[in-house]
Amino acid sequence: MSNEERRKKDRVRYLRLKCLVVDKYGGECVACGERDIYVLAFDHVEDDGAVRRRNKLDATGAILYRALVRCPVRTDLQVMCANCNARKRHHGKEFEKWPLTQPEGRDRLLP
Ligand SMILES: [Zn+2]
Repeated sequence: MSNEERRKKDRVRYLRLKCLVVDKYGGECVACGERDIYVLAFDHVEDDGAVRRRNKLDATGAILYRALVRCPVRTDLQVMCANCNARKRHHGKEFEKWPLTQPEGRDRLLP
């Protein structure tokens, strides 16, 4: 098997694992309902993901997904899309109350 074939096979295996775990956690972004597996990720509800990773309590990527397959659904994790995750990172947990910064909303955010 060539390196390219192996990378493709690894990628498919990774995505299948990610789909399995994302589906276990509802299969869509908790904020907007996005279902595209390429933009979905796990979000720490209390924003303590960095601390948990630093303290070796959580991993990332396939290592995290394999752990999540085996354990019951955790209430401190939720599925969130990249857009909602960025908005949460910027505005905090109440991010859904903030206007989207589409062109028509930007003048409300900028000084
Ligand atoms: Zn979303």
